[in-house]
Amino acid sequence: MGKRYYCDFCEKAFADNAASKKNHFNGAHHHRMRKAHYDNFRDPASILSAEMAKKPCRKFLQTGNCEFGNGCRFSHLTEGRRRELEQQCQQNKEKNQNSGASGPAVVMGELDDWLTKHSQREVKGEDSGEPAAKRRKTFPDYSLPPHLVGIPNLPPSLLPPTRDDFVNLPLLEWG
Ligand SMILES: [Zn+2]
Ligand SMILES: [Zn+2]
Repeated sequence: MGKRYYCDFCEKAFADNAASKKNHFNGAHHHRMRKAHYDNFRDPASILSAEMAKKPCRKFLQTGNCEFGNGCRFSHLTEGRRRELEQQCQQNKEKNQNSGASGPAVVMGELDDWLTKHSQREVKGEDSGEPAAKRRKTFPDYSLPPHLVGIPNLPPSLLPPTRDDFVNLPLLEWG
């Protein structure tokens, strides 16, 4: 037996050659299965409206089984599942009302604050007319991580730099 190709959408294996693949991928069954798969990831509102637009699958609703599975062109939406979807729609709507629009705005507000503070700091730091002591205040405050506090004789590479370390850095020429 030659190499087989397995189609995940249809859960079906067939000969792995160009002709069989073309034949399979162009088939109506494959298209239905593929669409059904991606439909699972749509939001509940569009699933619901798509299912409501279809006629109910009598076979599925009577026996709980249908050989077409997700690819059936009739709706397999049960009463329970419909209620579940409706609930999800409702929850999404409430979520959007409560936080939705304000979510990104809060982030933008924080970003603006940060940018304002940051640019002020830079201006202060660059202003060489200011006394060094005042300028030093603009350096970040490094501190030991809590789990390292209390360990004696830490190697220098683990110690947080002090402000004086920055101020007294020798000016090196690069390049
Ligand atoms: Zn397929
Ligand atoms: Zn069906």
